[in-house]
Amino acid sequence: TENRMHRTQRLESLGQLAGGIAHDFNNILAVILNYATFIVEDGAGTPYAADAEQIARAGRRGSELTHQLLAFARREVIRPRPLDVNTVLAEVEQMLSRSIGEHITLVVRAGTDLPAVMADPGQLEQVIVNLAVNARDAMPGGGRLIIDTSLATIDADYIAGRARLDPGPYVRIRVSDTGTGMPQEVIDKAFEPFFTTKPAGQGTGLGLATVYGIMTQAGGTVHIYSEPGYGTTITLLLPSTDAVAEAAGESTSSSTTLDG
Ligand code: ADP
Repeated sequence: TENRMHRTQRLESLGQLAGGIAHDFNNILAVILNYATFIVEDGAGTPYAADAEQIARAGRRGSELTHQLLAFARREVIRPRPLDVNTVLAEVEQMLSRSIGEHITLVVRAGTDLPAVMADPGQLEQVIVNLAVNARDAMPGGGRLIIDTSLATIDADYIAGRARLDPGPYVRIRVSDTGTGMPQEVIDKAFEPFFTTKPAGQGTGLGLATVYGIMTQAGGTVHIYSEPGYGTTITLLLPSTDAVAEAAGESTSSSTTLDG
């Protein structure tokens, strides 16, 4: 719909702006970090070294932020290819099980016989990690993070939120948590770049904007279901390679199912 086009275009130009600023700013930060490091080394043992270390620390925080901005602006080259979502999920699971924290129980349920999707593996990983990080932040006192994948058959009149999807087989990825949940006014703004409810220095407000951008570009959707006090479920739908080919008007005589 037109609404969706506008939204996508607005996010794209914001992304370009953010990417441009992040790129230039990163170069400036590199100079500051360099000289601060010289002072730390040359002035070892003096109060100047301790002050310069503070400058370097702030510089590194700034540099982390600009990297997030660059990721949001999606400056890196994207290489979509037929992917098995469960393979990507298995890699994310390994990483998360080491980093998510002991107070959170991670449950992964990989669905069987999923068709391949057309996506960039690094981007899909980023999407799931961004959602997992949000889930973790929503459960400071502990809880369950459940990630599951399944087959979804989308017919012609299926409407996901404001988006109408091309019919065909899709892969559904759900990321659920038992955290704080989101009131409606937060859900309404959650995909806006720089919208965050987290304290300054902890949230960039780019996590869900990045997820939205990547999913839209891949021909998929992202939807939030949340109950304050109980938790949140984020549902991703990614078209299978068959659905992508059909939407492009190609014939699909062979099936592209990856298993395992
Ligand atoms: P950030 O995490 O940096 O704040 P995001 O774009 O990822 O940026 O999220 C925007 C806001 O949406 C968060 O600040 C938070 O209020 C809300 N949010 C996102 N995911 C969840 C979740 N799983 N549970 C509760 N609130 C969430």
